[in-house]
Order: sequence, then C-alpha cells, then structure tokens
Amino acid sequence: MSESCIFCRIIAGEIPGDFVYEDGEMVAFRDIHPVASTHILLVPREHIGNVQSLRPEHEALVGRMVLRARALAEQEGIAEGGYRLVVNSGPDGGQVVPHLHLHLVGGRRLSEDIG
Ligand code: 5GP
Ligand code: ZN
Repeated sequence: MSESCIFCRIIAGEIPGDFVYEDGEMVAFRDIHPVASTHILLVPREHIGNVQSLRPEHEALVGRMVLRARALAEQEGIAEGGYRLVVNSGPDGGQVVPHLHLHLVGGRRLSEDIG
C-alpha cells in the first residue's frame, strides 16, 4: 500500500468509499464525481500504477476485472442498454489517480467519440 495514494487509502478503510464489490484481489466503489447514473471504479488491491506497470503475472487479474465489470453492469441494470469500460493510463491518457483502475460507466447514451 502507498500512504500517499488515495485509492490505497480507500481500500485500507482510511477514507470512506461507497463499495459495491470486494474480494481478495480487487474492490469496486462508486466514483465520487459520477459522469452517468452508474460510474463505478474497479481497483486492484495491489498498488499498480497504471497499464505500463502491469507485469505478466497480472494477466489473469486484468481479465477478472473486466468480467467483474460485466457482472456489476448486470447488477446495475445497464447491461442490456450498454456501457463503457475505460482505463486511463498516464497523463496524456487522462489518468489523475496513479493507481490502476477500470471505469464502468453507463445509464445514459454516451458520446461516440473517445477523446
Ligand atoms: P482517472 O482520471 O485517474 O482515470 O480517474 C480517477 C477517478 O477517481 C475520477 O473519475 C475521480 O472522480 C475519482 N476519484 C478521485 N478521488 C476520489 C475519491 O476520493 N473517492 C472516489 N470514490 N472517487 C474518486
Ligand atoms: Zn494505490
């Protein structure tokens, strides 16, 4: 855990989070500034900076994060209408919190452009 990392502190319970899922390797909580009615962040418990910091042993974790996002989309009732999964990586990718996370966004018609 990184003391200076806001997501590590949420995972550790030092800062409150509106959790919707947790298991031994990841947590999911609602984004504090949602851009749609569903905006959930899926976050590995391990402090991984971003996609560039991933190592081969993280391959299955990343797969399980995507499948968990799908399950949460179903739970939120947005699976049929569709949703967006986003990983911002690095400053030019729009990453603000330097702890890898997957955004699950849905509940309205999102714009077709991605940047
Ligand atoms: P990024 O731009 O790094 O991909 O996204 C970071 C996300 O984290 C943003 O959507 C932002 O609203 C969210 N966020 C930042 N600080 C907090 C916080 O303290 N709690 C929660 N729940 N979300 C946060
Ligand atoms: Zn962290």
